[in-house]
Amino acid sequence: MPIPSAEARRVERFFAFEEAGRRLIFAVDSTAFVEADDPAWALLEDLRGAGVLRRASVVQRLAERFGLEEAEATVQSFEKLDILVPIDRPRVVVDAKPIQSRPLSSLVLHVAHDCNLRCGYCYADFGRYGGAEGMMSPELAIRHVDGLFNQLAVGQDVYVTFFGGEPLMNMPVVFAAHAHAKARAQAEGRRISFGITTNATLLTEELATFFRDERFTVTVSIDGPPDINDRLRPLHGGGGSYERIIERVRTSKIKAVARVTLTRQATDVARIVRHLVEAGFTSVGVSPVASGNARFDFGPEDLAKVMEGMRALTDDFVEWAKRGEVHPFSNLKTLVEQVAAGEPRGMPCGAASALSAADNKGDLYACHRLVGEAAFKIGHVDTGVDAEKRLQLMTEMHPRSRAPCQDCWARYICGGGCHHIAWLHSSRAEAPWQISEGFCDFLRDWYRLGLTTYARLADEAPAIFAKLGGPRSACGQPEGL
Ligand code: SF4
Ligand code: SF4
Repeated sequence: MPIPSAEARRVERFFAFEEAGRRLIFAVDSTAFVEADDPAWALLEDLRGAGVLRRASVVQRLAERFGLEEAEATVQSFEKLDILVPIDRPRVVVDAKPIQSRPLSSLVLHVAHDCNLRCGYCYADFGRYGGAEGMMSPELAIRHVDGLFNQLAVGQDVYVTFFGGEPLMNMPVVFAAHAHAKARAQAEGRRISFGITTNATLLTEELATFFRDERFTVTVSIDGPPDINDRLRPLHGGGGSYERIIERVRTSKIKAVARVTLTRQATDVARIVRHLVEAGFTSVGVSPVASGNARFDFGPEDLAKVMEGMRALTDDFVEWAKRGEVHPFSNLKTLVEQVAAGEPRGMPCGAASALSAADNKGDLYACHRLVGEAAFKIGHVDTGVDAEKRLQLMTEMHPRSRAPCQDCWARYICGGGCHHIAWLHSSRAEAPWQISEGFCDFLRDWYRLGLTTYARLADEAPAIFAKLGGPRSACGQPEGL
């Protein structure tokens, strides 16, 4: 017999899992979730594989085990979660939204295509991005800045990041571009933020004062304690970089953010992060290497070890929260903030949609990691952003082009994964690019951990949520760049 529409409930996608002794139910499309009690866990069994159900029958079946009041409350909670929805309510599909390009707001200036370190895993070919070594000229940097400003919307905020190679090797250009961008922002009434990603080996007190006065976010690349960092991040002339980095950061008294590249040669993430927190970094973010080189890129066993360390760090995070402090492990902080905000994430990052990276030949690319790759070129300083190419790329990069993302429970918490990693995992072939199954399993484990950590904090240290929040980078990788 057909179900009257007022009684019919559609079952939307959900994912239920157990982690750290907790049972959580996650609504795939809305990203809302709850910790499940026995009636909720039992109701899931009724819903699994079902398309449309009669509400009264669902309540009745549950009431036989838990009583009418409990059953009604549980069904209502599933309605609030948007897992049980009235049949006539249109389905909201985030992926169905048209792809639109808005003015770019973030510019990464590759001021130095050269580096004084020789990290074996460097995706950028020691800062050369597949080309020759070279520095950006001040004139070109200023033209790139003008290119960004000239296409902004009224009142739009601006982010400028200095990158390389090693940007401290070309400070005259940093000063020139910074002064020009700051002056334009002031004249146009815009808020502007600056950042720099550096290996810090050339940092001086004078430079640190400049960065502090101009409120730069200073991100320092360092891979952990000396035995790990020095193996992976040697100086160009030989020898480890650890002592020099730490000494420069300490003597310059800069509040630096640490950014760690994890490789299969350094999987003990708990030890690495704890060390850098003790060394005084205000924030520590880790990012799995994406080099396309089997010597460094992770296999399944390495990823399992990394996840073990991530689990240990969530315990640290909760312990700190209980004493009212936010742990500096930024991957987890960012994820918990994202979960708290409850916003479905349509895209993984702002590559090509909010962010562009500019090189010393005048070319513009979708993001800093994709500089030098023709498939990701979106314009040139002489001609500006190529609107057609940019829209085509945004369409190719959209998670709706990635078949595995369409059936993935983590689709709207993940956003579809880093395009650079997807491109490497697709052997640098033509679009669509997708992330390997093994790495997606790792990502999904990470999101499970994030949801569980949120639930733990809500129970054990709810006051910490008032201390979370903060600005987001246009890059989905930790600490952005
Ligand atoms: S985990 Fe993998 S399949 Fe799932 S949304 Fe992210 S990139 Fe796509
Ligand atoms: S998440 Fe990946 S593709 Fe996106 S901006 Fe960051 S590095 Fe680039």
